[in-house]
Amino acid sequence: MRTGSRRRHDPGPAAEALRLVKVRKTYGNDDSAVTALDGITLSLGRGTFTAVMGPSGSGKSTLLQCAAGLDRPDSGIVRVDGTELTGGGEAELTRFRRGRVGFVFQQYNLLETLTVAQNTVLPLKLAGRRIDRRRAEDVLASVGLGDRLGHRPDQLSGGQRQRVAIARALVTDPRVIFADEPTGALDTRSAREVLRLLREAVRVHGRTVVMVTHDPVAASYADAVLFLADGRLAGRMEAPTPDAVAERLAHLGDEAERRAQLGDDLTAGV
Ligand code: ADP
Ligand code: MG
Repeated sequence: MRTGSRRRHDPGPAAEALRLVKVRKTYGNDDSAVTALDGITLSLGRGTFTAVMGPSGSGKSTLLQCAAGLDRPDSGIVRVDGTELTGGGEAELTRFRRGRVGFVFQQYNLLETLTVAQNTVLPLKLAGRRIDRRRAEDVLASVGLGDRLGHRPDQLSGGQRQRVAIARALVTDPRVIFADEPTGALDTRSAREVLRLLREAVRVHGRTVVMVTHDPVAASYADAVLFLADGRLAGRMEAPTPDAVAERLAHLGDEAERRAQLGDDLTAGV
């Protein structure tokens, strides 16, 4: 049911969760250099759920790493929740990352020797914040793992591990959550649970989620999809449906092929 009271505010700078301006990132040097991001400019509003899609190697993970402050772009500006990440020192960046962003990886990245509760509060510990047992219990209950606090990761299914990873990403109350193929290793049912949790983080708790995925169904949980090809933005789709996303993806492949073909033709003429 629509209440009619949820008006969208003007997307002024204050409503911006993430802004990238002309972000470039190259790996390697000179003859072996690979341009992973080739001048990305984008803006995402607070309280939005965005999927990032594109062929393998198109720069999706690099985009997330640079946006989350896990990696530094060669040039350009990254601003999260109004704070510029680029330009500051390493300590400052680490402090910011620990306090304001959450990250969920495809392979969970849990520490096997720690319990579920200990894994969950690890970001608080690293940030030197008070470890609130109650907070861990609450956040684990919210992902359906309130009865697994003392378990170790190897006693959990893949879907449960990923839910611990989501709890860990939520525990610091981050403004933005970045997820890189969070459902990539999961069965359909566990994937759906993880996607529902991410959507709930946005809808109920007003967080901003940016999620890389290969799966058109996963992308359809988002408000919008950004398409990436060769390190550049190649389009945006609002209110994505699985069919529309799949069609656009196939088309993206066509375009890349056409460009490669054109390149071949040009060099053949030289
Ligand atoms: P995606 O996540 O879309 O598959 P990535 O962001 O992982 O793409 O990679 C983009 C490009 O950058 C690829 O060509 C990849 O090989 C290259 N790349 C990514 N990380 C590194 C790295 N650490 N060292 C060298 N090249 C890298
Ligand atoms: Mg990747």
